[in-house]
Amino acid sequence: MSAKWSNWAGNETANPQSMVRATSEDHLSHLVARANASGHTVKVPGSGHSFTPAAVTEGHMVDISALQGIRSVDRTSRTVTVGAGTTLNNLNSLLADVGLAMANLGDIAYQTVAGAISTSTHGTGAHLPGLAAQVESFRLVTATGNILNCSSGENPHIFHLGRVSVGALGVVSEYTIKVVDAFRLRAVEEPMRLNDVLDNIQTLVAQNDHFEFFWIPHTKWALTKRNNRTEEPLDPLPKMRGWFEKTFMENYAFGALCYLGRMRPSLIPKLATALPSSGSRTYVNDSYKIFASPRLVRFYEMEHSIPAASLPDALREVVAMIEAKGYLLNFPVEVRFTASDDVALSTSYGRASAYIAVHVFKGMEFEPFFKDVEDIMRRYESRPHWGKIHHREASELSTLYPKFNEFLELRDQLDPARTFANRYTDQVFGR
Ligand SMILES: Cc1cc2nc3c(=O)[nH]c(=O)nc-3n(C[C@H](O)[C@H](O)[C@H](O)COP(=O)(O)OP(=O)(O)OC[C@H]3O[C@@H](n4cnc5c(N)ncnc54)[C@H](O)[C@@H]3O)c2cc1C
Repeated sequence: MSAKWSNWAGNETANPQSMVRATSEDHLSHLVARANASGHTVKVPGSGHSFTPAAVTEGHMVDISALQGIRSVDRTSRTVTVGAGTTLNNLNSLLADVGLAMANLGDIAYQTVAGAISTSTHGTGAHLPGLAAQVESFRLVTATGNILNCSSGENPHIFHLGRVSVGALGVVSEYTIKVVDAFRLRAVEEPMRLNDVLDNIQTLVAQNDHFEFFWIPHTKWALTKRNNRTEEPLDPLPKMRGWFEKTFMENYAFGALCYLGRMRPSLIPKLATALPSSGSRTYVNDSYKIFASPRLVRFYEMEHSIPAASLPDALREVVAMIEAKGYLLNFPVEVRFTASDDVALSTSYGRASAYIAVHVFKGMEFEPFFKDVEDIMRRYESRPHWGKIHHREASELSTLYPKFNEFLELRDQLDPARTFANRYTDQVFGR
């Protein structure tokens, strides 16, 4: 069956030759081997939440949503084995049922485990790396349909290079990931002056388990979020208030402001002043309910990781550029932090990182703005998020990742016929 496919933001579409649902790992391996034998390409999309064409294909698209759920729990080693097509939302609920949780997450949970890990998805927390660093092992279906167990003990070379692979090495059918005992977070959200945030950034990042902020363009304000582990009892936002603030204000009302700004861009600076006044709030909830929230307003996004120490200088350059060029922006600029990790193509490989993310409301022009931001980021040795819009190519990326060429050699070994190639892998890894 062929069908048109589109990503969440709607900026990438595909007309695959076929769209097939793999019902089991064996079925998946058969589908991949058959495509490879007939010289066709295969891509496995997750939830389509990448803004890049990471999952597009004109070849065969294979849906692995049947590879779902927790298969086993090892309480001694605090690991769980999960089907690669499990969504993070589903995983969070299943973990909560057995008193476990992910140590850190991004700000949504619609993604699949495989999609999130394969693109180096991360949350925030100076002592916490991204999701790929939580992987203990995975099972990889290669182009010929072989199934490999990959861990530090078995096929260690593939394990070390292949946790973040943007789907270019094969299809992952299952992961074993590290988890922690379920925990609660105390969330404190409050506006601060951007200059105060930047002047005190080291302390804010070091003193909070999870610190992030959103600078509101056209204002001097940033909304800060500090999430810290707590033993306090649950104290969530009351149901109506939670819905009003998390769903209505952060989505519907914000969406209405965005529509208004798209119709009349000159109103954007005035509309922006409505955002910082949303005040402070404190609440306590289960970790996964605080990390991720609903995202109903659609947008385009670019995000770059830079060495954490460069954040104040880099962000000040972005602010100055926006003001000098007169860009009218109705989305905040988001800043997060992660620990260094050892995942070859992780955006935090070998360095404690800060992330600067810029967003543009769906339907508005984003290219000139994103290119100007990217030019600044380049000066800070930035690594673009694999799932978010950028213009980097293999030649430039190879200078940013010490193990990039080893990854390319492994790709040549595992997928010489380029069964898993698409125009995005051509861009970032070469043909
Ligand atoms: C609203 C929104 C919020 C976001 N928030 C964050 C955030 O907080 N932090 C962050 O870091 N990122 C964030 N992202 C980016 C997102 O996490 C990544 O783009 C992620 O890849 C999306 O997962 P997915 O399941 O939708 O995968 P897709 O986008 O569908 O696919 C991504 C890549 O993974 C590959 N892939 C999927 N399944 C497999 C498999 N089984 N084996 C091998 N390869 C596979 C695909 O082929 C593709 O190359 C956000 C995106 C959106 C739209």
